[in-house]
Amino acid sequence: MKFSAIEILQSSAAELKQAWLDSEPNVSGGHEEGGFIVVDDFGVLSVVRWEKGTQNEILLPPHRNCFVNGKDIVASFHTHPNTGADFQQEPSLTDIRAARDDFDLKGEFYLGEFVVSQENVYLIEPSGLFSVIVKTEEIFER
Ligand SMILES: [Zn+2]
Repeated sequence: MKFSAIEILQSSAAELKQAWLDSEPNVSGGHEEGGFIVVDDFGVLSVVRWEKGTQNEILLPPHRNCFVNGKDIVASFHTHPNTGADFQQEPSLTDIRAARDDFDLKGEFYLGEFVVSQENVYLIEPSGLFSVIVKTEEIFER
């Protein structure tokens, strides 16, 4: 079951918004929140949240062979809660390397890692390329 980026974002919108709020977005401070978006045998998507991160780092729980809790991981995400102009909103070099070099995030159905910032939702593909997928408010206002 392969989903498009927009399908994944739309069906996970409530959980993504909750993670965004939990990360306490502000011009300074805040901390990263994130998770895996997984699919069950019936094609139903759900979110498995990670432990709270720090201001610019978050650790992933084990996800061997692109599975967690027996379900295929179709995407992962984390927030960039610092909304000040001094902070980088787009994926950092560390983000890109982490996504690209994670051999357990190369599953058949894995699309990539979403980075949710105040303005845009980015997608880092397993190749390391990233692009803007949608304006964050378009997802959150649904
Ligand atoms: Zn990041």
